[in-house]
Amino acid sequence: MNKTTAVAIDPMGSSNVTFSFDTPEECPMCHTGLVPKPIASCLDSHSRFSVLYFCRRCSLSFLTRYSADRSSSPFKTTLLSSEPNYFQKRIFPKQIIEVSQSFSDIYNQALSAETINLNEISGMGFRKAVEFLVKDFSIYMNPDKAEYISNPKFQLMPCIREFLPEFKIDSLATLCAWIGNDETHFSRINDDLDINDLKDNIEALISHVVTLVITKKAEERVNQKKLEQQDPTSD
Ligand SMILES: [Zn+2]
Repeated sequence: MNKTTAVAIDPMGSSNVTFSFDTPEECPMCHTGLVPKPIASCLDSHSRFSVLYFCRRCSLSFLTRYSADRSSSPFKTTLLSSEPNYFQKRIFPKQIIEVSQSFSDIYNQALSAETINLNEISGMGFRKAVEFLVKDFSIYMNPDKAEYISNPKFQLMPCIREFLPEFKIDSLATLCAWIGNDETHFSRINDDLDINDLKDNIEALISHVVTLVITKKAEERVNQKKLEQQDPTSD
C-alpha cells in the first residue's frame, strides 16, 4: 500500500485535521490493482475518516473508511472497508472444477456474501465448500467408494482421517474444518484463528489438490504407455 497524508474536513469541529492513510491496493468495483486518486476526505463522528477516491481504470468513484488513532500527529489510520464493493467471481483451475464443481459454486457464494460484508455467514459457506472439496476429492481418488463417501452419515472429519493422510493433506483439511466449525457454531475453540486463516488454508488445499490431480493423470498416462510397450500387438 502507498502511505499518503491529507487534510480532512471536520464538519463538526473548528479546524481541519491532518491524517496519514494507506491507499487501497485495488478498486473495489473493477478490481484493478492500481493506485486510485484521492479526491476528498472528511472526518466522521466516532473518529473515522472517509476518503473519496477516483479509479482511473473504470472512471468511477468509491468511498474508503478508516479508523483513526487521535493520539498521534498526524492521526494514524487503519483501513476498514471500501464501498461499493462489486463481487468478482473466482475462476478456479480446471483441475478443481473437474474434481468438484460444487466447491467452486459454494466458494463463490461465500465470497459473494463476504463482498457485501455478510461476514457472519460467509465463514459457514467457506466451511461447506471445504466439505465438498474434501469429499469430492476423496471420490475422485477412490471412485469405487463413491457411495460410501457420499453417505450423509459419513461426516467430514472421518472422511479426512480415512482418505487424506496418504496425500499428506489431512492436517490442512483438518485445520480448515476446525476454523470453519468456529465460524459456524456458538462457541469458538480456536480463538487465535479467523476467516482469513481459513481462506489461507483453503488456498493451500486447492494448490495441493491441483498438483495431485495433475500427478494422477501423469501416472495414468505413463502406466498406460508402459502397458502398450509391453503389448506385442500394440504399435
Ligand atoms: Zn475501478
